[in-house]
Amino acid sequence: MDGTREGAVTRAETYFDTGGFLADLGRRVAIPTTSQETGSLPALADYVSREMSAALGKLGYDCEVLPNPRSDYGPFLIARRIEDATRPTVLTYGHGDVIRGQDAQWRKGLSPWTIVVEGDRIYGRGTADNKGQHTINIAALASVLAERGALGFNSTILIETGEETGSPGLAAFCSAHKAKLTADVLIGSDGPRLDPRRPTIFGGTRGVLNFDLALALRESGHHSGNWGGLLANPGIVLAHALATITDRRGQIQVPEWRPQTLTAPIRAALAGLSVDGGESAPAIDADWGEVTLTPAERVFGWNSFEVLAFKTGNPEQPVNAIPPYASAHCQLRFVVGTEADDIIPALRRHLDRHGFAQIEITSDGMIMKATRLDPDDPWAKFASASIARTTGQTPHMLPNLGGSLPNDVFTDILGMPTIWVPHSYAACSQHAPDEHLLASVARDGLRLMTGLFWDLGARDQRAVLSLS
Ligand SMILES: [Zn+2]
Repeated sequence: MDGTREGAVTRAETYFDTGGFLADLGRRVAIPTTSQETGSLPALADYVSREMSAALGKLGYDCEVLPNPRSDYGPFLIARRIEDATRPTVLTYGHGDVIRGQDAQWRKGLSPWTIVVEGDRIYGRGTADNKGQHTINIAALASVLAERGALGFNSTILIETGEETGSPGLAAFCSAHKAKLTADVLIGSDGPRLDPRRPTIFGGTRGVLNFDLALALRESGHHSGNWGGLLANPGIVLAHALATITDRRGQIQVPEWRPQTLTAPIRAALAGLSVDGGESAPAIDADWGEVTLTPAERVFGWNSFEVLAFKTGNPEQPVNAIPPYASAHCQLRFVVGTEADDIIPALRRHLDRHGFAQIEITSDGMIMKATRLDPDDPWAKFASASIARTTGQTPHMLPNLGGSLPNDVFTDILGMPTIWVPHSYAACSQHAPDEHLLASVARDGLRLMTGLFWDLGARDQRAVLSLS
């Protein structure tokens, strides 16, 4: 059985148009895999052991559910279909867990655990992040398999169940199972397209580190009438410390946090990209961020510092006292070239230089490192050419996403280039009530992933895509 590329893509379209996709996704969304909630372990195990192992077993994959090296977190699924050791091996990643349902906050008529279709929107928790996305990729693999009788390459699928809690154990797991997970390239899907109407490829991610700044000046509050003017106010001191980290338009002032990696080729790759996020996205503040950079350079080529929460006294019930304590929960998103292990020490030096030695910096050490793929990487060009062939559109190509994924596990520990092809869009309400996937993007994603996997399995990939 040989089949044709067109035949494989038609199979993917038929799967979507006759309800196969909604049926598969509906079963998966109904499993409440809320990894942030205690008691979710049975659902996480059910997702990989029953639902996904059954689906992949039917496609001829050997499925192994393995425990998390961090025993209080959910398991991993490694599914492998090895056809021929002389052919390329592709690793595909997905996460089966979702954030909490927030059941009461969904719009009337919607529920996190039952799919509802309204117009172009497919509502349900995990439709966008990430169940819909890996369901698309697995169905694309199935379409190639059905048409060609084989994939034409070796396929390994890794599904984790702790991404929404920061992927605990993923790095240790991949180190321990490196032999089974080694591949020529990772092709995965998560996150949003830059523009829902056009495919996107991103080759890496910004890193992320959260930390707390705290200033404890005394044991308890003291009456502001008796002591105001005599006792230092920790909220004011902390506000001044924060004001040394960025200027008033958010431009970072910590020297080591200012990247040196926005090179001419990266600027060229980001030139002309729009970051408006499409309908129902917030209006962008033109006078915020690094003044000399374009909006795309600010989010994909630079670092950003945020104060996520800031507390002094009791905001809900203020009293007339000088509070004893102030704290701010902060975050740095950072691009390749920022020394991850030096982020906190650099801030320490900066605060000390500005006279804020008494402010304490703490972090739980959970860090996702930054990764980036050269826009001229041959795999990036291959994927772009394949997607253009299927859709008639040249994809937006980002060296890295603005958001974060545990991508350094694939690039640094497993040592492979990474190609991410997102099937969602920025206004999908992931991590919020009313999460949804766009049906039009899902169908398009099924088509282009089928084309991409078809081309990967072709005997002569370069000839197929007329690459030099
Ligand atoms: Zn998520």
